[in-house]
Amino acid sequence: MIRESLPDLANPELDEAVARKAARAATLLRNIARDYAPVVFANSLGAEDMVLTDLIWRGEIDIAIFSLDTGRLPVETYELIHRAEKHYGRKLDVFFPRHEAVEAYSRTHGSHGFYDSVEARKACCHTRKVEPLSRALTGRGAWVTGLRAAQSATRNKLKVISQDTANNLVKASPLTDWSEAEVWYYLRTNRVPYNALHDRNYPSIGCAPCTRAIQPGEDVRAGRWWWENADTKECGLHRRPDGALVRASAEAMAGKAELEAPPGAGRSRIEETQDSGLHLVHGRLERVAQRGDRS
Ligand code: SF4
Repeated sequence: MIRESLPDLANPELDEAVARKAARAATLLRNIARDYAPVVFANSLGAEDMVLTDLIWRGEIDIAIFSLDTGRLPVETYELIHRAEKHYGRKLDVFFPRHEAVEAYSRTHGSHGFYDSVEARKACCHTRKVEPLSRALTGRGAWVTGLRAAQSATRNKLKVISQDTANNLVKASPLTDWSEAEVWYYLRTNRVPYNALHDRNYPSIGCAPCTRAIQPGEDVRAGRWWWENADTKECGLHRRPDGALVRASAEAMAGKAELEAPPGAGRSRIEETQDSGLHLVHGRLERVAQRGDRS
């Protein structure tokens, strides 16, 4: 969000909507923590993920929080980690790439090889993001993300609960129906730390060499991997339920991704059961959705 368009702090309509959605998200997080333990939250340190960080840490919800340090993050992101840890009196669990893999990549492609080709860029993302994510998710029952449906072109498709087939885990997105204005209203009214780059027209923040500010009128995804065609932009962190990599549009908008497969294509058991109030827990179907905790 461009700084000038941030919502007013005294906004009764947003106040009510954000309070209601925050309470519902907190309930959902508590239920996920109870039903899928051990649960982990992959904190990308973007605006949405700072909302979830606040809900989990202030609410003392039993969900571990980790971030991926690719080694190429902007200095402002490291400063945010420092400020957040001070603010909450907690430490983020940080996962790094394997140094042998980074060294091998560097020998083959050089320090900025990701600019040379899509393949070289994806190899870098795999080394610095996908492999550490896979390690961070090992042994977990579910993982939480800050994905929002409005971040993708196909709105209202993102499910609160879905099956991450790539990591063989349940994936929960409690902010599915939040708007960007609601995210920022929550951050500001609750004085949640956020990345200083957001105030400099970086709506989506990834690694420093692969992120730039956007201009007014530009798509919010324009600052991510800006030298590539839109249809190649993904880093592999998020896959659709059918296992296919998500399109770049959502990834680039906020480091997030669209989850929904094309209608009828590759539907997983969890998707097929969502409407009936059933979801998959470690291969078993359990009835959990009638508690009013899902969007
Ligand atoms: S975003 Fe850029 S620097 Fe970061 S892992 Fe991907 S290619 Fe490498």
